[in-house]
Amino acid sequence: MSERALVSALGARAAELDAADELAGLREQFVLDDVVYLDGNSLGALSAGVPGRVDDVVRRQWGELRIRSWEESGWWTAPERIGDRIAPLVGAAAGQIVVGDSTSVNVFKALVGAVRLAGEGRDEILVDATTFPTDGYIAASAARMTGCELRPVDPDEVTSALGSRTAAVLLNHVDYRTGRRFDLPSLTSAIHAAGAVSVWDLCHSAGALPVGLDEHGVDLAVGCTYKYLNGGPGSPAYLYVRAGLQDRFDSPLPGWNSHADPFGMSPSYAPASGALRGRVGTPDILSMLALEAALEVWDGVSIDSVRAKSLALTDFFLECVSAYVPEGRVESVTPSAHAERGSQVALRCADAGAVMKCLIDNGVVGDFRHPDILRFGFTPLYVGFADTERAARVLAETLS
Ligand SMILES: *Cc1c(COP(=O)(O)O)cnc(C)c1O
Repeated sequence: MSERALVSALGARAAELDAADELAGLREQFVLDDVVYLDGNSLGALSAGVPGRVDDVVRRQWGELRIRSWEESGWWTAPERIGDRIAPLVGAAAGQIVVGDSTSVNVFKALVGAVRLAGEGRDEILVDATTFPTDGYIAASAARMTGCELRPVDPDEVTSALGSRTAAVLLNHVDYRTGRRFDLPSLTSAIHAAGAVSVWDLCHSAGALPVGLDEHGVDLAVGCTYKYLNGGPGSPAYLYVRAGLQDRFDSPLPGWNSHADPFGMSPSYAPASGALRGRVGTPDILSMLALEAALEVWDGVSIDSVRAKSLALTDFFLECVSAYVPEGRVESVTPSAHAERGSQVALRCADAGAVMKCLIDNGVVGDFRHPDILRFGFTPLYVGFADTERAARVLAETLS
């Protein structure tokens, strides 16, 4: 087929796919211009309801009600309330997720908490050797603090690395660089079979695909809210502690907000029960309530339909890239099997840094990950098939 015919055939397919897309209407709930925004796996787009809510929080709740808002505007209970709003998106029943702090801080709480939950004589922490760096740094410190040895392992070797010494295992559901999705159910059950505690980082899966925390018996999990959950820059992260473990969860950061009687101002600590045991200090209300407003776009949206569209988008992107881009110029490092794919496509490309600059100049926003990866994140709530075809076309033009 000639190049022109190819472009018009794929363009027509894109139009058909967009017309049949049940989620297409959600795009109107976001503030977007005519760039193709494929960086929602780094910072989700602004949803249209957020500016008005933030304005109300600042001017009325803070400006007029002032201190009364801790109660009257629901500020004090926001971490648990918003945790319950995130819960269905990650397959958790209410009462197990608390929002606050950064992912890094929650990795620390979860991992030290996991080692404390593990049985006597277990003195090894396994961590995905290819993890997002902050998880590895925090794991090293958690290991030092708990007297454990940190063992970085290739995610494919986790099962064989498990043993009677393993206290806790920190894994990513989806790899931030390659977009590879790991088998959370079978890894969690292998971890349990070895008598260890599982900690999952959901940064690149929550809001993009089903997680099934309760169904698969995950022990602890953390995730950020500014990627596929569109919470805004630096929006607070969350911590999941399975209901059955909450009474034994011993946080390494037992601040006054997780005290059973925070206003009793007791000199001695007594942990609250439930998810709020994961709280630390005063929550960052402005970011937190922006996140709460952003989560409203999920009302009535099923994560299964989001997953179906995500796979259709990434399939279509890979198809357009292989049709348009000269053979050998890029190589996908994202698994082609659906079961092993998250919601991004990562392409290895020799001059990836310069290529991404050029793509951004031409209205296609992805990102570059050192040393040679072009990353394209597909947020099904606001990315369509015509966007996807255009991104592949601009990439081909850039590379030719
Ligand atoms: C985005 C991301 C983080 C970010 O951590 P912060 O503390 O929010 O900066 C951590 N881990 C993973 C796997 C991520 O993808």
